[in-house]
Amino acid sequence: MTDVNTKITQLRNTEWNGKRIVVFLHGDYDFLCKVFGLSGPQGTYPCLWCLTTKKQLQESTEKEPRTFAFLKSAFEKFKIESGEDKRKAAQYHNCIHEPLIDIELHKVSPPYLHILLGVVLKHHRMLEQAADRIDKQIYEDKNPDRADNSRLLSNLGNNWQKWMQKQKEIAFLEGCVAFGEAESSSQTWMEQLENAQEELETISHTPLTSRSGPVCSQLDAVLDKHAITPQSYHSRSFTGNHCNKYLHPEVFKDITASIVRTTCEWTSNPFIVDDANEIKLNFDLLNEAYALVHNDISHTYPIAPVSLSSIKTNIDSYMATYRRMFKKKVIPKQHILESHCLPFIQEHKIGFGLVGE
Ligand SMILES: [Zn+2]
Repeated sequence: MTDVNTKITQLRNTEWNGKRIVVFLHGDYDFLCKVFGLSGPQGTYPCLWCLTTKKQLQESTEKEPRTFAFLKSAFEKFKIESGEDKRKAAQYHNCIHEPLIDIELHKVSPPYLHILLGVVLKHHRMLEQAADRIDKQIYEDKNPDRADNSRLLSNLGNNWQKWMQKQKEIAFLEGCVAFGEAESSSQTWMEQLENAQEELETISHTPLTSRSGPVCSQLDAVLDKHAITPQSYHSRSFTGNHCNKYLHPEVFKDITASIVRTTCEWTSNPFIVDDANEIKLNFDLLNEAYALVHNDISHTYPIAPVSLSSIKTNIDSYMATYRRMFKKKVIPKQHILESHCLPFIQEHKIGFGLVGE
């Protein structure tokens, strides 16, 4: 990497029209951790910009910053004292390789695309878990006066979809029998109808598993409606475009409204319906709070100092909403958003669209 570092130094010393060139580094978080020699987001000290521990990032308190010189000296100690024993990485603040590129960390852009993908996916996974809980409540509801659909889910578990499909087939065949013109074809329809009715009787119970109930399983169809199709070959994750669409109020509110709508179709139990309404309310607040932050910083325009306090308020408000809903679930990407995005904007006065990966 000597060549690269020499060229970076040359660039830094280059002037154009009386202006000195500033060299930034950006990339996704795994790349940045590799470049600067850190273990990565799973380490005890997961943050490139400060010395927070995984445990401490649940709180919003400020931590001692890292510097390029610190990364170098921590790695030297790791090399000499531990003999590069990775089991002792935490004793050296997870600095396990020599930093490759000589750029001060305040010129390294927080990976906003990575943060966006992580945050929106985290919200959606939490929403799926909440929808799953509603399905489980409907499935386990033993009230003798419960709605027919609720009874169906209790009786059939995962096989509720098979039963619904068979019912549709029967309705179609009944139509064919009623309106079939030729005598011979009418008999064929009748045979098929009788077979389908027999098959319906044989559908039995299998326990309800995760993401298989009606409330959770319809979420993918709503995403699809908004052209958000999670990549199944990539752990059902989102792309940047998916996240942009997701954060439009008409999209995330449609997704949460579908939870209430489907719950009401499947149960009349007021406690379960209340839970569904509360999920909608909370996730709408959460997505609204994050969408404000996203709109503030995910663009290519200059950011004036006068806007900084409103950006800080929006980030703090989002994190407070998140922590209130999900205790001890802050991920390193949210810590970077909370602690390191604003100082970068404050120093460089631009949105992350210009310096993001
Ligand atoms: Zn940090």
